[in-house]
Amino acid sequence: MTQKNAERAPSPVPALVSTDPRDEKKIGEFPNHRKAGVIQAVEQARLAARWWAGLGHRGRRSRLTTWKRLVGSRMEELAALVSAESGKPMDDARVETVLGLAHLHWATTHAGSVLRRRAVPPGMLMFNHSTTVEYHPLGVVAVIGPWNYPVFTPMGAIAYALAAGNAVVFKPSEYTPAVGSWLADTFREAVPDAPVFTVVTGDGATGAALTSSGVDKVAFTGSGATARRVMATCAESLTPVLVECGGKDALIVDRDADLAAAADAAVWGAMANAGQTCVGVERIYVADAVAERFIGLVTKQVRRLKAGGRPRADLGPITVPGQLDVIEAHIQDAVASGATCASGGTGSVHRPYVEPVVLVDVPETSRAVTEETFGPVVVINRVSSMDEAVERANALHYGLGATVFSRKHGTELARRLRCGMVGVNSVVPYVAVPSLPFGGTGESGFGRIHGADGLREFTRAQSVARKVAPAMLRPTSFTRPPWTVAVLTRLARVLYGR
Ligand code: NDP
Repeated sequence: MTQKNAERAPSPVPALVSTDPRDEKKIGEFPNHRKAGVIQAVEQARLAARWWAGLGHRGRRSRLTTWKRLVGSRMEELAALVSAESGKPMDDARVETVLGLAHLHWATTHAGSVLRRRAVPPGMLMFNHSTTVEYHPLGVVAVIGPWNYPVFTPMGAIAYALAAGNAVVFKPSEYTPAVGSWLADTFREAVPDAPVFTVVTGDGATGAALTSSGVDKVAFTGSGATARRVMATCAESLTPVLVECGGKDALIVDRDADLAAAADAAVWGAMANAGQTCVGVERIYVADAVAERFIGLVTKQVRRLKAGGRPRADLGPITVPGQLDVIEAHIQDAVASGATCASGGTGSVHRPYVEPVVLVDVPETSRAVTEETFGPVVVINRVSSMDEAVERANALHYGLGATVFSRKHGTELARRLRCGMVGVNSVVPYVAVPSLPFGGTGESGFGRIHGADGLREFTRAQSVARKVAPAMLRPTSFTRPPWTVAVLTRLARVLYGR
């Protein structure tokens, strides 16, 4: 290379360094994939996708089962990586890997029965046809994931897309590249035949390159701001997108609720994973009549929780440093607008940790009520009726999950909530039920992962209507007798007109 060329050559992109947010200890270095690397990964995946689709459900099931067993036998290793990269306590990381595995198992086991060709009734007009629907894979699916649940969240797209017959290129968050790479490495170990599931690591630019790489669908989980950028890129090529964004989930406590159970659920729902949970409890609306008792129960339990870096701490650190400013601002805004701190307060932020904060009687216009806090902070507001609770819960543009505690009216209240999932007398139970679809509405996104809907999300439905017998009426022919349309309209009047 001449000196001139050397000067012009692009400088090598620095590697992506992953660190433990508790002590900044280096976990590993990963490639910072740029456009060329991403396109190469997608091209290879496209070739692999043909082989994978050709295997059929049985062939894929046996290979995915091999991967599932491998992940199952090395769960502890995976949990340790999750804990190291996100800082979450080891037991929380273990629970997350269990959930990820449960979804991999469900998708692997049910893809065949959910997506297989099935007969549907042809109806009276086309009674002489045999009619079927079949769900075919799309090709290559890009999965872009967040850092807060680096196994559970992307697995909701990866396992279902793979089981539906697609190849997957996964871009984990820049904060969790080791976990993403581990998943792809173990898949390669289990299925060495072709790069059906690969990972590209890097920052937002890597995600942007993947979005514009010509994949057949993008499954995105992350913030609303990034979702809008992803959708704008996908709009140019009409690439379909599945969007799982944040939430501001409400928990409603009725006057007849089991208050001890509601308080226990509220504390876990709000504080687990240091509040960095898309379906975490951020707002609580409690019936006036039981509010004091409920607030007392919540506060008592919250005061026992400790944030810290020990593997057995209740709450780990805030994984993304910038989020600490948001959390601090929300607490300050609530207090300045008249809220009371039942536990913790403006001094609870000890970077990178935040001690749990319970804010009571917060104005509904405060940022702590209207925006996703994504930290161990919960708002408790009193309501005079369950109608008011439902109205306030539905007042935001978010609509991800919700929880209702009520002995008599749980299901009825759940049905009135504008969101994708509701736990009744139980907090976030749906995440551990793989047959239930998961996803939101409004600012929380659209499309579904998990369950049969989650499998179909990564397919194209194909309808086939095959003529099996001659018909008296031939309306779709230029050689039809002139009376055909008259008979057809009379028939329609008889069939549908009454
Ligand atoms: P971000 O939106 O910042 O990032 C999400 C992913 O998108 C990351 O992998 C990120 O890469 C990547 N990315 C960044 N810029 C682009 C771009 N221009 N094009 C394509 N991809 C890009 O979200 P967070 O990682 O901070 O995740 C937290 C958010 O995710 C919260 O709002 C939370 O509620 C939500 N969430 C929703 C869930 C759900 O299922 N509904 C589940 C879990 C979280 P990089 O990290 O390298 O910048």
